Amino acid sequence: MRHPYVKRRVGAWEWCLTCEKASRASDWQRADWDCPLCGSGTWNMWAWSTVRAVNPAYPAKPEPGVLYPLYPVRAASEGQASRV
Ligand SMILES: [Zn+2]
Repeated sequence: MRHPYVKRRVGAWEWCLTCEKASRASDWQRADWDCPLCGSGTWNMWAWSTVRAVNPAYPAKPEPGVLYPLYPVRAASEGQASRV
């Protein structure tokens, strides 16, 4: 049975929801599609383009090993409006 993520471009950048770091799809592939950095499962693999859509300031090519939080402005916006 083929893994659903096998069709990913091996040169593409992927992002891990668990460790919030980016790595190459080829590295995920070598780790049997687990996160090559923290071992988190495939379901936590997000396309880098998805993370960038939320954070336009992030670079097109992420730096390996750098922490890229999904919501870096959350702390700043918490004081503005409470949705609870
Ligand atoms: Zn990870």
